[in-house]
Amino acid sequence: MILTADYHTHTTYSHGKGSVYDNALAAKERALKEIAITDHGFNHPAFGLKKRKLPCLLADVKSAEKETGVKIYAGIEANIISESGKTDLKEKYYPYFDVFLAGFHKFVLCGGGAMLKLYLPNYARSFLKIKPTDALVRRTTKTYIEVIRKNPVDAISHLNFCVFSDAVEVAKAAADYGTYIEINAKKTHLTDEELSDIAAKTSVRFLIGSDAHSAARVGEISLAEALIRRVGLDERRIDNIDGRLPDFRFRKYKEKNG
Ligand SMILES: [Zn+2]
Ligand SMILES: [Zn+2]
Repeated sequence: MILTADYHTHTTYSHGKGSVYDNALAAKERALKEIAITDHGFNHPAFGLKKRKLPCLLADVKSAEKETGVKIYAGIEANIISESGKTDLKEKYYPYFDVFLAGFHKFVLCGGGAMLKLYLPNYARSFLKIKPTDALVRRTTKTYIEVIRKNPVDAISHLNFCVFSDAVEVAKAAADYGTYIEINAKKTHLTDEELSDIAAKTSVRFLIGSDAHSAARVGEISLAEALIRRVGLDERRIDNIDGRLPDFRFRKYKEKNG
């Protein structure tokens, strides 16, 4: 399996260690065709991309692309902030970004309802390794599905990392709307059984993301590769390996809606 492109990388604009240029250079050394810089969404008080820094990020993307010859997308890893499916990437910011990932993250600013009913119970159970209640699984599943339904999200990042949803139901919605399920190479998130079930019961397509927080990890996917091999996932369902490039929903949405 040869990675064609890496659509999940962080820089110092959130809590990565390298610059946009560092990531681009690493991508060039790994012979990747494209990368996305996907720093954390605005509602993360400590790690989120600052709105005032957006012009600098976009300028860095342009110049790093010019200097390295690697296609670089300005992306964001938005935070899921409500049970009704809101993320912290509002529509007025769509023009600035090319790639839209969404996922659950700790310590994110969200409404009290989401904090009490979604965030705290998920993170507490994950931390204490307590089995989630059926109601919590239903609520988390519904939230992911609402995110996919209401936002032109390209990929759900690290599905079920520290949260509990019915991965098959989420993947069914993702398949319906043209959203990818990311297989994350930094975090252990889907169990072997969950990935195997998703593959067998849905037609969803996958992306592998390094989730690199340093340039040295751009394009590093061994953790994801090991999971894929254990499960025997048909690699033809992964759209950023072996020369393939994904068909991104966010791009199509923006083309259609001006
Ligand atoms: Zn993340
Ligand atoms: Zn990330």
